[in-house]
Amino acid sequence: MNLLRVNNLYFGYRKGEEVLKNISFEVTDGITCILGPNGCGKTTLMKILATLLKYDKGQIIFNDLDYANPSQLMEIRKLIGYLPQRFEAYSQLTAKEFLYLAINLKCDKKFLDKTKMETMINEIIEVTGLGDYACKKIKTYSGGIKQRLGIAQALIGESRLIIVDEPTASIDVQQRKAFKDLINSIKKERCILISTHLLEDVEVICDNLIVMNKGVVEFCGMYDKFLQKYEGCIWKIQIDKQNYSNLKKEFFVIEERDFGKYIEIKVYSLQKPALGNVEECLPTLSDAYYLTLNLKGDGSFQ
Ligand code: ADP
Repeated sequence: MNLLRVNNLYFGYRKGEEVLKNISFEVTDGITCILGPNGCGKTTLMKILATLLKYDKGQIIFNDLDYANPSQLMEIRKLIGYLPQRFEAYSQLTAKEFLYLAINLKCDKKFLDKTKMETMINEIIEVTGLGDYACKKIKTYSGGIKQRLGIAQALIGESRLIIVDEPTASIDVQQRKAFKDLINSIKKERCILISTHLLEDVEVICDNLIVMNKGVVEFCGMYDKFLQKYEGCIWKIQIDKQNYSNLKKEFFVIEERDFGKYIEIKVYSLQKPALGNVEECLPTLSDAYYLTLNLKGDGSFQ
């Protein structure tokens, strides 16, 4: 089993302006989604984990190898597969040619003869469903196929930590489904980190969840636990319009719908609101995420 440990990590692009503040988490095999609004520091964290940026303070350990130890860094890099947000590949090459190039750059040639390279490439092409495109030039690929190539190059070698930054931002719904199937098929014995700001990505693929906001980790754990945090605190209330503004002052409103004669609102409250038409709701991912981003640590909202 692989294990990534991040302890008290700090990073800033400029002195005195911290983008990541005291980040700590632990993840093992399976898919971990890093969810957070734009600008909260996801890409920065992904770049640090991919060893493209150096952190200022803290510790990162992957499978007992320390990012801060220069003699272990090359070993760590061999275990990392990284797909950046904007993945570009030489458009005149075919997928096969590009993967050959990537193998030559990443793998130790002492252990890889031509036959082994060929086998590795064929296996990766098979896993990523690139068979029909393997000998076609990359410039002819759609966004979804190019992204599969991005995953293919991330799988090269002994990749055990796969880092994928905002993968579904630029592909359509159909391609998104294919991408999720692909990610699920490669998660065995790999630690996969996927950053996203889209809740639908999280609902379908994640085993573990890290929620970030403004450079800090607000939650890290099993997806179900994230929802459980808010069980017993979410209520649906039907109320007439006269009483609506008072209610808004008293409770933190998550959602509201105007039905003409009355308004239906979903609120956060530790106790059942002492009102007429109140029903408890199970938290959805959207509820839990909204509350995590907006409630203060002590549960207050004003
Ligand atoms: P996310 O991926 O969650 O959208 P980013 O990691 O891209 O967030 O950005 C976090 C913060 O760091 C933002 O305020 C952004 O403006 C800033 N930032 C990102 N890249 C750079 C850079 N190269 N130089 C300076 N500031 C940057």
